Amino acid sequence: MASRVPSRPLTSQVTLAVLALAVCSVAAIAGFGAYAMIHADRDAAATQRTFVANGLREQIEATAQQQESVTLWDDAVTYAKAHDDWWMSENLSVWMHAYYGHDRVYVLDQYNDPVHSMVEGVVVPKAAFEHVAPVLLPLVERLRLLMMQVASGERSDDPKLAVTDIATVAGGPAIVSVMPILPSSDRVEQEPGTEYVHVTVQQIDATLISTIAEHYHLLGARLAPLAATFDTTASMPLIGSDGTILGYLTWDRDRPGLTFIRKTAPALVGSLLAGGALLWFLLRRLRRASAQLERSQNETEFLAFHDTLTGLANRALFDDRLQRAHLSARRGNGKVALLYVDLDRFKHVNDTLGHAAGDELVRQTAARLKSTVRPSDSVARLGGDEFAVVMEGLRDVRTAEDLCEELLAEIARPFELMGNQVHIGASIGIAIGPDPEADHIELLRKADIALYEAKKKGRGRYEVFAGDMDELIARRRLIEAELRTALSENLGLRLVYQPVYAADCVTIAGAEALMRWDHPVHGGLSPIQFIAIAEERGMMEELGTWTLRTACAYAARTDLPWVAVNVSPVQLRESGFADVVADITRACGLAPDRLQIEITEGVLLDNGDGTRRNLARLRAMGVRVALDDFGTGYSSVNYLRRYGIDKLKVDRSFVHMLGKDETSAPIVKAILDLAKALKVRVTIEGVETARQRDIVLALGADELQGYFFAPPVEASELGELLAARAGDRRFRPANRA
Ligand code: C2E
Ligand code: CA
Ligand code: CA
Repeated sequence: MASRVPSRPLTSQVTLAVLALAVCSVAAIAGFGAYAMIHADRDAAATQRTFVANGLREQIEATAQQQESVTLWDDAVTYAKAHDDWWMSENLSVWMHAYYGHDRVYVLDQYNDPVHSMVEGVVVPKAAFEHVAPVLLPLVERLRLLMMQVASGERSDDPKLAVTDIATVAGGPAIVSVMPILPSSDRVEQEPGTEYVHVTVQQIDATLISTIAEHYHLLGARLAPLAATFDTTASMPLIGSDGTILGYLTWDRDRPGLTFIRKTAPALVGSLLAGGALLWFLLRRLRRASAQLERSQNETEFLAFHDTLTGLANRALFDDRLQRAHLSARRGNGKVALLYVDLDRFKHVNDTLGHAAGDELVRQTAARLKSTVRPSDSVARLGGDEFAVVMEGLRDVRTAEDLCEELLAEIARPFELMGNQVHIGASIGIAIGPDPEADHIELLRKADIALYEAKKKGRGRYEVFAGDMDELIARRRLIEAELRTALSENLGLRLVYQPVYAADCVTIAGAEALMRWDHPVHGGLSPIQFIAIAEERGMMEELGTWTLRTACAYAARTDLPWVAVNVSPVQLRESGFADVVADITRACGLAPDRLQIEITEGVLLDNGDGTRRNLARLRAMGVRVALDDFGTGYSSVNYLRRYGIDKLKVDRSFVHMLGKDETSAPIVKAILDLAKALKVRVTIEGVETARQRDIVLALGADELQGYFFAPPVEASELGELLAARAGDRRFRPANRA
């Protein structure tokens, strides 16, 4: 498994993204709102300034127009020149004030001397003009210059004979308009250059300003003195024609944007809060969902690399770890040991107590392994009842062997499975690395071979892979091939017979057939070796049938009381085995009760129907059943009773100990007593000395077999032995067991 670099957790990633999005959208809305507001306000201000400018211009034009209505008039020329104060007040000044609201009117003669003055509707002394003359006379001069230019034809564009301007009059800005008083018809003579001039002044005061304000809907319009501070976007300078600023018109700025914002603000805040609440709610759900997702992601990841039953690393993770450990060892970080652990009796538990118990056994085994290994070791389940331990950084192999011993002891302790106490063993194969030539897979292969060896050598043990194990395997393969040929060509395989003696030590009770194979290279191979191969490679049935046929044929030809044939558990499990035996005895003409089959204790543990039926049928036929190697296995008295056994063959290891070890004799005695109680005969195998013979005879053995009497001999030799005995007067037919 590639170890994951811890990335920022998904949950906070999602949260950050959503929050960022929310902040961005709020900022975008606010920005857009501000932008729209500023623009709306700026546009409104510009419009207002245009309105005010227009309003002022209209007022100036109106002033001039109103003035023109009285200055272009025959009577005005006449009466002004007559200096008729009353007429002038009625028509040129007070009337202008009353009717149009003009504040000041001055009438000047051709020398620009005042002939009439009016201020605020009151005719005042002519000399009052002196106060305003400095401001007004320049305008009058401009008018006279214009008139001269027109009269002399200097200007051909026929301009309007008027001068209007804004100027400071009586301390405040005012509209000033100057026009010549001209006849409206030919009836009155007007000498050019003698024209009187009409000057009218309209103060830009509250009244005038409110006229403009009303027309253009301005609020708070007023005159601001030069020194005052005010909102420059809501003001307009009053500029005279000479460019001087006389004052400002200001007003309350219309801010539609701001107003809009103010009006919508509560709604906006409300929806923002609602949006925020919604966001918070969604975010919480999102966080929960993504946390859940993260959890299940972790779980999936865990499941992908762990065994569900035990929680141990699975094969994939184990491969990765082993590879790393092997690489690390190659870089010089000590040795690496791979322990391949396999339970010895797992199948038995599964078959007898059920799969639930099997699962429980696997779980408990996993826990025991885990609690026994060092913290730096890793345990994995490779499948079924197979486990592996990887040990890293080892100084020597001894450490691995010590752990194996601990593990074996730990697993040898009884297991409590669904109320049953069960004894399970384990076998362990060890491979030590690093292997400079090969990879970690090779390590696994070697551990597997070592495990196989451990199992073969008798289970409940460990075996370190040795270099020649590879050769052993290759040799086994070769033997397998050669055995097939030997079988198919009936070449090299033969039977030898070891006589079994009655308690009188001279009568041959029968003989056990033992297989021999004259191997072309290895010579006489031990049946122990090649029978295991035959069992493993599926040749045992064929081989067993061959033995049965050969032995039965031989017994039928001779007057051997009976012949015993060793039968492998593999054969016994086959449902047709009893039929095969029946066919063979019939074909050979051998009475079934002259045939004995020797089975091992393990057979009795087999729960399969096949074995039980075969045994029952064989016994019904008359074939005798002997339990071989008795005492080395785990058969209980129960099994013996249930299956019905005719004979026990006490394993030769007991006989071997007789006379050397005090406990052996009582054990053999106990076995004999047990056999008597069960009413079965007892054969003592492996009798090698006269002393052993005497002891077993004293203990009450029924039959004896061993090198002391005779080794396994060729068929012809046994024939001679039989004949010799027959010739011997002492011969009497043996009790058929
Ligand atoms: P087993 O059934 O216990 O056979 C007796 C073995 O003890 C034989 O070894 C025999 O040569 C040996 N033996 C006999 N007397 C003595 C003695 O006094 N001392 C000692 N130390 N050994 C003695 P063998 O022939 O090598 O056979 C070994 C095993 O191979 C047999 O053990 C049997 O389990 C198996 N076997 C042999 N032939 C066959 C066969 O045809 N079929 C099957 N299934 N198994 C066979
Ligand atoms: Ca035997
Ligand atoms: Ca035996």
